[in-house]
Amino acid sequence: MLSRILAVLLLAAAGAVSAGKPAPEGTWLLTHVSVIPLDTDEVLQDQDVLIRQGRIASLTPAAEKLRVRGATVIDGRGKFLIPGLVDAHVHIATEGAIRDSKDARIAALPLGEDHAYDRRVLLGFLKAGVTGAANLGGSARSDEDLLWLRTEIAAGRIAGPRLYVGKRINGPRADVVAGSGEAPPSRPESPRTADDGAAAVRAAQQRGYDFIKPYQYLNRETYEAVVGEARRLRLPSTGHLPELGCARCADRESAFAHPLDNIAHAEELARYARSSDFAPRDIDALADEVAARGIGVTPTLITLKTIVHMYTQREVPAVPPGWLALVDPVTRRDWAPPANRYLSEAFRAQEGADTFSIGYDFARLLTRQLWRRGVPLTVGTDAALPGLAFGVSVQQEMFELREIGLSPREVLRAASLNAHRLFAPGSGEGPVRPGRRADLVLLEADPLADIRNVSRVAGVFVHGRWLPAAQIDALLAGLAPHDALLQHALQADGER
Ligand SMILES: [Zn+2]
Repeated sequence: MLSRILAVLLLAAAGAVSAGKPAPEGTWLLTHVSVIPLDTDEVLQDQDVLIRQGRIASLTPAAEKLRVRGATVIDGRGKFLIPGLVDAHVHIATEGAIRDSKDARIAALPLGEDHAYDRRVLLGFLKAGVTGAANLGGSARSDEDLLWLRTEIAAGRIAGPRLYVGKRINGPRADVVAGSGEAPPSRPESPRTADDGAAAVRAAQQRGYDFIKPYQYLNRETYEAVVGEARRLRLPSTGHLPELGCARCADRESAFAHPLDNIAHAEELARYARSSDFAPRDIDALADEVAARGIGVTPTLITLKTIVHMYTQREVPAVPPGWLALVDPVTRRDWAPPANRYLSEAFRAQEGADTFSIGYDFARLLTRQLWRRGVPLTVGTDAALPGLAFGVSVQQEMFELREIGLSPREVLRAASLNAHRLFAPGSGEGPVRPGRRADLVLLEADPLADIRNVSRVAGVFVHGRWLPAAQIDALLAGLAPHDALLQHALQADGER
């Protein structure tokens, strides 16, 4: 057990966090900036951008010398303004996830008050220019945390990215995996009938989830009902494709005939290749089918690349310089053996493990063909998978998409406009235009000249606030004592 003194210190550290709250909502005038709106191919040079109450009020040529009383002026000379980036596939670590841990010692870790742990994770996104994040499901308490955090963030009480909170819908394993047990009873929480599948979707919408994630083990009739009900309710869907090859499973034709709005990994499609040998003709056939059905795809190439690295190198790949310190101690523990299953012997021994590397190559070629056919791609990471830190991993996936041929502008669109279209269809949010939400990133250098410049974040606008990079760093530094105490608690526990 952790000492009482340590618990008191944790509370004190959490209290210090509240004092570092960002400045209240106001009016900002960003002057002489180059604007990349992204809804067209334009770059608007030397603009004054007025931001008021969380919205872009106007874009005017700086030559007009706009004066706004009470506005805080930010010098944008030499800088570039782009829509805020969005992680379209992430599993955000929250205090609720820690409390739901199967490891009783982790579940009992003292977290202090005022959601210091959650605040720290959320600030990591902003530091990387990520002003939106879609969570593809977590534990029960983690999901509840995120629904709550979504409101707190939107109200400006906690600094963080705009959250799209997804509900994972998973069937009972025994229903589709042969020989894994007796047929379990159907419940909306684990549906194996069409009625329960549809009820699960309705419950998710009523609870306020932004979208659903069909996951594994849904039998054919349940899968079709889940996808159909989501469509009827206009609740976006992004997730996995159903299992293949069992008596009650969907097959390829039925899955494509009842398509999700979006497929959460390119790797999922690789499973649906007609031959099992990564044949080039499969790439064209799959890309044609996805394009014809109007399905979007979040390729998560960096995820697969990271798994391949762990398999071939037997280590977690290095996170970009300066970011390891931002990975919280609980997540760092999950990345190390024995918690990291990707470094386990059981993972190495599984069937097909020796094809991970070419699976990554296949996914890249497939993603390229999806892009060539105009399939809307989004940027997702599956962070915090070992090696993928929240926030910066979005930039890593953007570089992956650049490498397979997307132009920098197309990469930026995938990381912003396409995500809003998927998770808030019809909202028109995303582009840097008057009337739109001011979820924006100010960059020190031109991302169209080199996509790597997205890592040079000068600051972000989110929820009506301007947070310069230095202020985000200061807020993070204010949370460091909490981090150190959590680290200490983990160590003390390990030595016990
Ligand atoms: Zn995931």
